[in-house]
Amino acid sequence: MKCAKCGKSATKLNAQGIPVCSHHTKIKIKAPSCPNCGLEMNIRESKYGKFWGCKAFPMCDGIQRLGSA
Ligand SMILES: [Zn+2]
Ligand SMILES: [Zn+2]
Repeated sequence: MKCAKCGKSATKLNAQGIPVCSHHTKIKIKAPSCPNCGLEMNIRESKYGKFWGCKAFPMCDGIQRLGSA
């Protein structure tokens, strides 16, 4: 079983049932756009948990809950 992304030995199947190595198990979810400025958002982590934060932070403080579409 080989990773569909890089060809290294796969350790598990991802959510789509495709074999992936440990490096590729955390396939990025498509980043949403910032509600304020429209830029791509990055996953950020605070003591309250993970959330989407604007790439332009701290210039832009747009955030979005993780998992909310
Ligand atoms: Zn891989
Ligand atoms: Zn923004």
